Amino acid sequence: MSARLVLLGAPGAGKGTQAAQLAKVLNVEAISTGDIFRANIKGETELGKLAQQYTAKGELVPDSVTNAMVRDKLTSMVGDNPKDLGFILDGYPRNLAQVAELDQILMDLGVTLDGAVEITADNAIVSERLLKRAEIEGRADDTAEVIAHRLTVYAEQTAPISGEYASRGALVQVDGIGEVEEVTARLVAGIEQLG
Ligand code: AMP
Repeated sequence: MSARLVLLGAPGAGKGTQAAQLAKVLNVEAISTGDIFRANIKGETELGKLAQQYTAKGELVPDSVTNAMVRDKLTSMVGDNPKDLGFILDGYPRNLAQVAELDQILMDLGVTLDGAVEITADNAIVSERLLKRAEIEGRADDTAEVIAHRLTVYAEQTAPISGEYASRGALVQVDGIGEVEEVTARLVAGIEQLG
């Protein structure tokens, strides 16, 4: 049995870092929709050109586009035995419609989700981290204005997802403040409580 998880948390909560850590520990692939969009933008593909119009403003890329991308990716990963499919989704789902679509994708593939793990962090701290990351990585969507909008989009569209997984008894929350390894250990302990 492989781990099949959704990683939740505000922009700047450390999802990308922790998804990579967990992928190593759990020996599954981390799938970041944000990374896939950025790779397409860099490669100037049709998907990239479309996605850039939204990512640059801190808006969500339309569900039809994002859902199809995730469906293709997960479908391409399924081998002979669907039960061996393992993944950590980083940045998807990002609204309730995407939660429903993920349910459908997994049902079509014949697997279930273990649950969702959420990295919690104070708003002031995530804003500060994002501004610091902007200096280091130079991400196009890490300007003060776009960061503020991404946090609003998160609060309005993405935060309600936690309640949805909680109502299914499939959510664990973990404090995201601390050293990387400390937070990873908390996540691993939390994941053991799921399923
Ligand atoms: P991230 O790296 O996860 O912060 O994502 C960067 C940007 O990619 C977001 O601000 C969105 O514009 C877009 N994006 C990433 N994941 C999704 C998603 N699940 N649905 C819609 N847009 C997304």
